[in-house]
Amino acid sequence: YRHGEASRVEVPTPKGSVFFGEPDPIVLVAGPCSVENEEMIVETAQRVAAAGASFLRGGAYKPRTSPYAFQGHGESALGLLAAAREASGLGIITEVMDTADVEKVAEVADVLQIGARNMQNFPLLKAAGAQPKPVLLKRGLSATIDEWLMAAEYILAAGNSNVILCERGIRTFDRQHLRNTLDLAAVAVLRTLTHLPIMVDPSHGTGWARFVPALAKAAIAVGTDSLMIEVHPNPAKALSDGPQSLTPDQFDALTQELGVIGQAV
Ligand code: PEP
Ligand code: MN
Repeated sequence: YRHGEASRVEVPTPKGSVFFGEPDPIVLVAGPCSVENEEMIVETAQRVAAAGASFLRGGAYKPRTSPYAFQGHGESALGLLAAAREASGLGIITEVMDTADVEKVAEVADVLQIGARNMQNFPLLKAAGAQPKPVLLKRGLSATIDEWLMAAEYILAAGNSNVILCERGIRTFDRQHLRNTLDLAAVAVLRTLTHLPIMVDPSHGTGWARFVPALAKAAIAVGTDSLMIEVHPNPAKALSDGPQSLTPDQFDALTQELGVIGQAV
């Protein structure tokens, strides 16, 4: 059963409004982990748009485990996302990590992403709740469902009712084979607890491109409203999350398969 009426989150994009929270079609969000340069982000945007995505994802500010890893190009990458939006007609979803950047990121982003590592950054949740753009709240690395819903509540309580929940995997004991354990049961559970739209991210959820198609299909089967998939024009050369990134051709093949299952595109 469901938790009452599902909420719809309407997001205006250059090609018109996209609605999260409706059974059909599955909203596809795709793009690289990090915005690396103008050519790659524009090319990826055009390719994923042609394959049926409604949103381009790409990090300007990256929450990396190591301080010595690529941290994202920051503000200049926001400009590149704006260029990719213009070139592709896609909406933009990008992460904000710092309350000081919320306004700047919201100028370019159609949806603000709050990452797993900041799920309980309460000042950031309040700041995201106090601005008008919809917010994508990823599940914390080892957050319970109730902790996640309470984090969403911070955004809602601050006055922003447009929140989307993204299951992106929880801490696994099997790092040999998986980066995280994608908790698809959480999607079924959320349906009984919340009216908010749900997204599943099988890229971070598994950590490996070869497992992404199967888990994307499983996420649709369990009732997700949308999918986030990492796509990079040359995963072997990616500055972050290459091993879990599909090529544009692989993404195209996947969306064609998903069309059969969930009327994805
Ligand atoms: C990302 O979307 O690139 C990301 C860092 O995700 P998460 O916060 O889920 O790890
Ligand atoms: Mn990533």
